[in-house]
Amino acid sequence: MQTDRPINLMSDTQTRPTEAMRMAMAHAEVGDEQLGLDPSVNRLCARVAEMLGYEAALFAPSGTMCNQIGILLHCRPGDEVICDASSHVVNTEGAGAAALAGSAIRPLVTLDGRFNADEMQAAIRPATRTGPRSRLVVAEQTVNFLGGRVWPIEQLKAIASAAHCRGLAAHLDGARLFNATIKSRTEPSSHAADAGFDTAWIDLSKGLGCPVGAVLCGSCDAIEAAWRWKYRLGGAMRQAGILAAAGIYALDHHVDRLAEDHARARTLAEGWAASLGDAVDVSQVETNIVLIDTRPLQISASALAAVCRDQGLWLSVIGDTRLRAILHLDIGDDEVAAATKILDTAVSEVRKCRDLENDFGAALRYA
Ligand SMILES: *Cc1c(COP(=O)(O)O)cnc(C)c1O
Repeated sequence: MQTDRPINLMSDTQTRPTEAMRMAMAHAEVGDEQLGLDPSVNRLCARVAEMLGYEAALFAPSGTMCNQIGILLHCRPGDEVICDASSHVVNTEGAGAAALAGSAIRPLVTLDGRFNADEMQAAIRPATRTGPRSRLVVAEQTVNFLGGRVWPIEQLKAIASAAHCRGLAAHLDGARLFNATIKSRTEPSSHAADAGFDTAWIDLSKGLGCPVGAVLCGSCDAIEAAWRWKYRLGGAMRQAGILAAAGIYALDHHVDRLAEDHARARTLAEGWAASLGDAVDVSQVETNIVLIDTRPLQISASALAAVCRDQGLWLSVIGDTRLRAILHLDIGDDEVAAATKILDTAVSEVRKCRDLENDFGAALRYA
């Protein structure tokens, strides 16, 4: 099936600002952000700090900068950061922990991106003259590359408290924090400050549908120190209220609707599981992310993604045998229905090619 516009499920970063959001941006009250004089930025920061339970907040151009500032705040060169091996910090931030903070990563391999306090404690190094100093633990709420799983609040509390007992700080990558709060019907603060995290941030450009921006929260002292890093990394802005206005609009209008993305993710997963069986595990779909494991299909993830793309369905390739689909603001029921059919057809097509190649190989062997 060929649709006019691609069905872009590569990420929830693929949204375009709505007309109403553009209006809010166009009429934003603005000032000089880096002098602390942009009223819209100040309003956004105060609001997010309060939602997450912190004293203060900082507006940043991206979530990646929030993670990097978080690591820079807590770690010195030679320190070690404990986080899941699948995490954004490990895989998609240009080795920033090493390049910027001079810190090493201690990756924990888990099934779904969520480790428990015992697993974390086992990775904390004893204080010796020879080993790195374990200094920071990072948790990702929700887990990105392993399927949008939601950390239970108790588990977050347990790792933050175990970290503090052993002299480590705790940082929450809340790129999709609101997907977790909507799913679990809980308050953002209970995943962040109240769970014991020293710093936490939310992304505006994921499910919230803004074009740019993220907000990092912490104590007044931490945010004061974070400002220095923000300048140094080139993240200080001027009339950034244009961007903050999108964030304020999204907090007003795009948080509760995340439940629709979750429902559509489930419908999509059920549709795919009906035709592809074990390749899609519906029971693991908690929020807006659906993973396809191509091993049971005996085809490669990149071949399947290429055929889907030809037919107007864009998916992300995560490793050799995994594809990821993320539901978002720009995807409605019609797109979900179309995506269900396209994947089914695409799998048949990839299999046909594979079988033809096998037959051709066999023919050559017997020639
Ligand atoms: C997207 C994402 C980031 C980075 O956010 P950007 O705003 O794209 O820089 C960090 N962590 C997780 C879990 C993410 O999904």
